[in-house]
Amino acid sequence: MNNTIQDCDLLLTGGSVVTLDDERRVIEPGAVAVSGARIAAVGPIEELAGYRAGRTIDCTGHAVLPGLIDTHDHLFQGMARGLGEGMPLWTWLTDFMWPFSISINLAEGRIGAKLGAVEALKAGTTTVVDNHYAPSDLDTTLAVAGAIHEVGLRGAVARGITGEATDIARRFDLAGELFRYSNDEEIEITRAAIEAYPAGGRVEVWPAPLNIIYNDQDLVRRSVALAREMGVGWHTHCSERLEDPPTYLEEYGVRPVEWLYREGLLGPEATIAHGIYLDDSEIEHVGETDTGIAYCPISHQYIGLGVMRMADLRASGAPIALGTDGPCCNHRQDMFEVMKQAILLQRVHTLDPTISNGEEALEMATREGARYAGVDAGVLAPGKLADVIVVDMRSPHLTPRHRTVSTLTYCVRGSDVSHSIIDGELVLENGVCTKVDEAEVMAEAQARAEELIDRAGLQGLLTPWRHDGSG
Ligand SMILES: [Zn+2]
Repeated sequence: MNNTIQDCDLLLTGGSVVTLDDERRVIEPGAVAVSGARIAAVGPIEELAGYRAGRTIDCTGHAVLPGLIDTHDHLFQGMARGLGEGMPLWTWLTDFMWPFSISINLAEGRIGAKLGAVEALKAGTTTVVDNHYAPSDLDTTLAVAGAIHEVGLRGAVARGITGEATDIARRFDLAGELFRYSNDEEIEITRAAIEAYPAGGRVEVWPAPLNIIYNDQDLVRRSVALAREMGVGWHTHCSERLEDPPTYLEEYGVRPVEWLYREGLLGPEATIAHGIYLDDSEIEHVGETDTGIAYCPISHQYIGLGVMRMADLRASGAPIALGTDGPCCNHRQDMFEVMKQAILLQRVHTLDPTISNGEEALEMATREGARYAGVDAGVLAPGKLADVIVVDMRSPHLTPRHRTVSTLTYCVRGSDVSHSIIDGELVLENGVCTKVDEAEVMAEAQARAEELIDRAGLQGLLTPWRHDGSG
């Protein structure tokens, strides 16, 4: 239908194109044309026959879809992958994660982020919200942002803010060395980091009061004000444990998300990890304000937290997205696995196989993730940012393929991703990162991680077999 020749930079042609657009078109075989950082055209091959591309990638036997958006992660945790097994959340924090976190130095923070970014990229993630809190000094925060940028991922470094310890933090022994900065210093450091990685760049910095339950209320207000002033998102953990809302209610006389709502702190720039224990009225507030919620089904199971009210939250209209939640409570960053678990956990919890489906998982991992993160991507449509992944479907575990959407959500593994394009740039080619040397990153991460575990005094966690069942 298009006889005139049009130039584009990159043409992905011949694959099953799963657009996630408003009509949810699946075009088999289809093509995607990319010009600069944006998608120029999407359609059946013959419709794009007039495109003359600087580079053409034959996607026959592959699926082409929007890049996956990991909306809650802690990349640095990869340095302790596999440790800290079988503990309740706050013990896991006080006995493992926080002693580990406060021991990390700048070089370890940087290589941990780089390793995590490489892992995520190779598994089809194109945007990551990295809730970085260890260590959270300015130089390390900037080094983490730089590492993500170097690998080529899009993302936000949501800088963890603890500030001055609250009564709740003290009462539950959470107020250790992680609470090292005054409230003023937290805001100053975050502001300086945002100035270095401002709104609109491929990597941004956001304020992230670490947890509404044990953060100072005024520090939360100031963090949100800073985000609004600088035009970036903000991030937090909230209501992930059954005890969280009652603890908050007892201390402040109000449930945590109810408090955020009354204070005018919810909104499209607010992104909350977990939100498992929200009551009906809190869900209504989240929907009314377009507040993002990150559903992390694997960490919810790993730490035994509970099951998010996915159907009710999605029905509220809020952007409900998916997250891996960091390599110490997921152990790998594979959003395909997260999609599958997101569906299955809802089904076993409700004993209802109709409560969730693969189409929803793909929506949460792409277009809803983009709404959540404030990124103009998540959909294959002209004008959208060219954040696109290509999945090689020519494997026994993906054969026969009857419905591409089912194959993507139930059968594909992150390692099946062959190409990734971010901002129009080819950052993963035939499964290999184009911008960094993966072997070098792994070697440095292994060496530095061993030193770090030693220095953090966590040798006790290295026991080859746990006979007593404790961490
Ligand atoms: Zn988390």
